[in-house]
Amino acid sequence: MSKALTQVLTGSTDTDSDAAMQPYPGEVPAEGISLVNLTKKYGGIPVVDDVNLAIKPGEFMTFLGPSGSGKTTTLSMIAGFTDVTSGDLKIHGNPVKDVPANKRGIGMVFQNYALFPHMSVHANVEFPLRVRKIAKSERNSMIRDALAMVHMEEYADRFPAELSGGQQQRVALARALVYRPSVLLMDEPLGALDKKLRDWLQSEIKRVHREVGATFVYVTHDQEEALSMSDRIAVFNNGKIEQVGTGVELYEKPETLFVGTFLGESTVFYGTHAGTTSTGTVIDVAGTHLHTTSELKETKLALLLRPEKLFLSATDSATTSAVNEVTVSVKSATYLGAAWRYVVELPDGTSALVRTENNAGIPEVGQPALLRWNVESGVLLRDER
Ligand code: ADP
Ligand code: MG
Repeated sequence: MSKALTQVLTGSTDTDSDAAMQPYPGEVPAEGISLVNLTKKYGGIPVVDDVNLAIKPGEFMTFLGPSGSGKTTTLSMIAGFTDVTSGDLKIHGNPVKDVPANKRGIGMVFQNYALFPHMSVHANVEFPLRVRKIAKSERNSMIRDALAMVHMEEYADRFPAELSGGQQQRVALARALVYRPSVLLMDEPLGALDKKLRDWLQSEIKRVHREVGATFVYVTHDQEEALSMSDRIAVFNNGKIEQVGTGVELYEKPETLFVGTFLGESTVFYGTHAGTTSTGTVIDVAGTHLHTTSELKETKLALLLRPEKLFLSATDSATTSAVNEVTVSVKSATYLGAAWRYVVELPDGTSALVRTENNAGIPEVGQPALLRWNVESGVLLRDER
């Protein structure tokens, strides 16, 4: 483990007059974290490319994106492990580009637990306090509070090897928070855990976030995790942030095809601009005209539709024709418990995904069906393929 990493994990400092030790809770700083034209290049090639982002104090911000999109490198620049190539970085209004990692007042939790194996749980959580020369009388109550916060009081005397992965991560969280940093950075902290444990720890981390009031920056490649935990999500692609917003904003109003298809399920129809009407845009998709209230001045277009916005019915059930109506063939039907998921195929071979809670009247697999949706349901995007 590098010296800088150990220092951040343990909150170790060289002096007692550590300006980065921020008071909390109750005293939320006026400014959060600002990334300004932040760039990191390796061998001249940008892996974080001119990123701008303002994280609010006390916010739960998630960096979401595929592997290699620059999430860890960005987090690592905030932490101070990775040097900034160009641009600026501020924490609580203070430029920190030249501030060493251990002076930035941040806590950090990683995917691999990084507890000290030869130390008990108590000693692991105590370590940052000891290095900070906090009086023993105070230490014990701080350790108790931190362990209680993650429901691990009972395990104070155990060693890391005697704990499950989830328990080790809770101890790592307690150790990162015990000295009360105002910023907590987490890089895929639940990545090594199974689904059920992950779900439970997600809600635990959310609860801890509410209790401590610190700014959390959380990295994940899992869109469900991002949606369930975050105040806002920054979607990374190729070293750039494509969009920042709440889960609802990103799902309902994606600004790029990448964001729309990375978050949640979708069907995309590719076509060309075929004119405008009083209700919006007409798109030509393999000879079929589709209508949308969405507007975009581009020739090559993509119409993105969410599976719950598409409706399927028998071909002979239609009494009136809809504006957007395509005859399709039902390829598969999957029972999901609370809903059904259908894959249907259009005449040109493209497939579409339909989600419905009530499957009454939907033709069986292999049969033709009518696929319909409302003109305001689709999101029109630039075809960036
Ligand atoms: P993510 O966390 O989103 O998976 P990373 O930030 O780890 O992505 O990596 C972004 C890109 O930067 C990747 O292509 C990766 O190979 C590259 N990269 C990361 N660290 C280094 C390094 N120390 N030297 C060279 N390239 C690196
Ligand atoms: Mg990473």
